[in-house]
Amino acid sequence: MSGQRETPLEAELKAQIAQDGPITIAHYMAQALGHPKHGYYMSRDPFGGRGDFITAPEVSQIFGELIGVWCAAGFQMIGAPERFALVELGPGRGTLMSDVLRAAKVMPGFLAAAEVHLVETSPLMRQNQKIKLGGAGVPVTWHESFESVPDLPLIVLANEFFDALPIRQVQKSEANWLERVVGLEGDQLSIGLAHKEAPPAFAPTEAQPGTIAEVSTIRDHIAQTIGGKIASHGGCGLVIDYGHAQSAAGDTLQAMSKHGYVDVLHQPGHCDVTSHVDFESLARGFETGGAKTYGPVPQGPFLHAMGLEVRAEKLKEKAMSRQKRLINSAVERLAGREQMGELFKVLAITHPDCPMPAPFEGLSA
Ligand code: SAH
Repeated sequence: MSGQRETPLEAELKAQIAQDGPITIAHYMAQALGHPKHGYYMSRDPFGGRGDFITAPEVSQIFGELIGVWCAAGFQMIGAPERFALVELGPGRGTLMSDVLRAAKVMPGFLAAAEVHLVETSPLMRQNQKIKLGGAGVPVTWHESFESVPDLPLIVLANEFFDALPIRQVQKSEANWLERVVGLEGDQLSIGLAHKEAPPAFAPTEAQPGTIAEVSTIRDHIAQTIGGKIASHGGCGLVIDYGHAQSAAGDTLQAMSKHGYVDVLHQPGHCDVTSHVDFESLARGFETGGAKTYGPVPQGPFLHAMGLEVRAEKLKEKAMSRQKRLINSAVERLAGREQMGELFKVLAITHPDCPMPAPFEGLSA
């Protein structure tokens, strides 16, 4: 982009494209986020007011505490096993896990039975998580991927994890579907279409020319693996993310820097590049693995049904007026329709023998 310094990753991608030709959107995302040296999550802590975006656990401790209450009930639901793996994918600063453990320890037997397993590829994030969870009183193990999580009953959590996994995009031309790729226009990165027809499995049947469709095989694969482990060893879990309940065509690729949207090709490695989660496809992945799913339901109603108001009032009892205002704005941020309450969705996963978990019976998708 003119006037902007070229990032080291941008230079590397340009050289690679000049030599080998355009790369898929999935390859671009994987490099932008996960390049071992220059990837976004490998080189910086993006969260909070001074960072690029803020996630629900960083907005308020209430979020993690309510998820902790859900986990405590989930522990009972799966039969209060003597040992279980409390798994989180993409734990960021470790805030959610820390709040979950504090809230869930009120459930007798929970802490004594829990082994924490964190799936995290970034050494920098692992370091943050280690510091945050150092005093939690439970063993913590890190994994490069979900595959190495031990064969135990599971409680699985993933907040804003699946949006960061690579997607491919295809676009309808007059005759067929072509893959969207990142190539070079002059000396700048630019999105174009590959000349060869995209695999038909990626394309919806009816579509106008120009329509863009997305698919994430890696997301669906991870969901299937988790679903398989829950089906064979027992367990449950929650996936929370922004996205749509039903599969639909559309371009949802986005990039963020300093709390604002930027072009997806802007300063690769310095911006967060994600896409909206297709919950229909994700749920199918968990179910193909053998688990059952409930929802997704919007985050606002989910948090209200879990006791958001009651918890906020409790915190406000001991708060000064400035803190009270902060709690009110956090509640609005987490659950307000215009904020995270509607776009963010919650999907529950359970072993097929489990009953419908609370609070899903009272909520509609
Ligand atoms: N759940 C946290 C952080 C969300 S950001 C929160 O809500 O605040 C995404 C997290 O996923 C980061 O910790 C990032 O390092 C991690 N991550 C991204 N891609 C990953 C992958 N392929 N495997 C494991 N972790 C990944």
